[in-house]
Amino acid sequence: MKQIGHFIGGEHVAGKSGRTTDVFNPATGEVEAQLAMADGSELSAAIENAKAAQPAWGATNPQKRARVMMKFVELLNRDMDKLAEALSREHGKTIPDAKGDVIRGLEVAEFCIGAPHLLKGEFTEGVGPGIDIHSVRQPLGVVAGITPFNFPAMIPMWKFCPAIACGNAFVLKPSERDPSVPIMLAELMIEAGLPAGILNVVNGDKEAVDGLLDHPDVMAVGFVGSTPIAEYVYARGCANGKRVQCFGGAKNHMIVMPDADMDQAADALVGAGYGAAGERCMAVSVAVPVGEDTADRLVEKLVPRVESLKIAPSTAGDDVDFGPLVTKDAYARVKGYIDKGVEEGADLVVDGRGFSMQGYEDGFFIGASLFDKVTRDMTIYKEEIFGPVLSIARAANYEEGIDLAMSHEYGNGVAIFTRDGDTARDFTSRINVGMVGVNVPIPVPIAYYTFGGWKRSGFGDLNQHGPDAFRFYTRTKTITSRWPSGIKEGADFSIPTMN
Ligand code: NAD
Repeated sequence: MKQIGHFIGGEHVAGKSGRTTDVFNPATGEVEAQLAMADGSELSAAIENAKAAQPAWGATNPQKRARVMMKFVELLNRDMDKLAEALSREHGKTIPDAKGDVIRGLEVAEFCIGAPHLLKGEFTEGVGPGIDIHSVRQPLGVVAGITPFNFPAMIPMWKFCPAIACGNAFVLKPSERDPSVPIMLAELMIEAGLPAGILNVVNGDKEAVDGLLDHPDVMAVGFVGSTPIAEYVYARGCANGKRVQCFGGAKNHMIVMPDADMDQAADALVGAGYGAAGERCMAVSVAVPVGEDTADRLVEKLVPRVESLKIAPSTAGDDVDFGPLVTKDAYARVKGYIDKGVEEGADLVVDGRGFSMQGYEDGFFIGASLFDKVTRDMTIYKEEIFGPVLSIARAANYEEGIDLAMSHEYGNGVAIFTRDGDTARDFTSRINVGMVGVNVPIPVPIAYYTFGGWKRSGFGDLNQHGPDAFRFYTRTKTITSRWPSGIKEGADFSIPTMN
């Protein structure tokens, strides 16, 4: 059986705690590997390595740090097929989607090549007699990232690329469900020229997370995962005086106006609702057609599309629409939600529960499900399902549609499909959601903008990637200098002002 340990100080390190967890191939249901779960001493070793390596890295000029990112991008491209294959084997997503996972991270690495420019400070000459002022952005020291299973390449890179480009050392605690790719990424960073100890990967569960949150040498923590854990990490990290940003769950609505192109809207919903088996924080999980006629037309377009989706292991070819769910628990949770939706009176138009694949009976596959006439009091509307289940919540008019999205506790992504500029403009201005699409179902901002949800989808005041990442992983120092040329003023006991 393959054993996966940690990556500390530039080397593979076997787990010592004696605790392990199984890593599955979700398509076959078979155990692929045993993953070590770190204890406090293993975590401390990683933090100590990072702390020892960081000062020299922080003092390395930003151009040289950027060159490591440049080489890393080249290596990601070289190993794209290998990374996608490993990712898909543990996660279950299709190969093209797995490549997308890597590429979305790679794009942030590309953005980080701009570190020398992004880290420039400010300077004002002559703020007083002989006095200049300037500010610099300095790294924090050792920082940590805790990441979810659903993007095992992209989200670790969203965290460690900017942190490292800023001159920090990083400890990554990736998801225990698909741990191979994060370690492969760390190996590539070393091959790209990163000094040992600057990027460490420690595998584990709550024990490792708590260790990071409580360790005095960890200066900042970036988390992505479900909302209850995001809230916990935020509260505990902040209570320990750390800089913390946490991104949580989602329930993304897509409003379909009567004037929308219904084929385009249905295609968008099928891709955004069922891609990656719905295991995306930017998946559309609620379609909101405005008006009964729009709803009827949309359902008519959706049903044949949903029924004909190709569900198979990623090894079945590039035309697979989506693969299995990540674990048996995820399968049971999603099936439980579908049962609950039926029980609470929603109209199950397409039922994915009976799906089975010959030769893969033990895999964690579930078919695509479509609910119509879902209302705001239902559990399947209120909670994140994180599976291939799309709910249609009919709205009588635009105001009711926008109110649905605005009243929901989550505020990660949202979209509107319309051909009317006035409606789109009103929508983008009023909606209380962090990432908004107009005729774009998955409005994931590109690398040089920032990514983050509102309401219970995001905690902390800076977003991921883009310029915010450079603010999050640095602190500003402001220096006032005086070079008096013969000015003698004597002691001054009042606060300096510009008067
Ligand atoms: P999760 O919350 O179960 O796990 C996330 C991380 O937290 C993992 O590293 C895990 O080991 C750790 N963890 C789990 N339980 C813990 C506990 N009790 N104490 C401390 N740490 C714990 O999330 P997941 O199932 O891996 O990922 C899916 C979730 O992530 C969904 O809710 C999805 O919406 C969300 N997500 C959000 C974004 C975003 O940017 N907002 C992006 C991707 C995924």
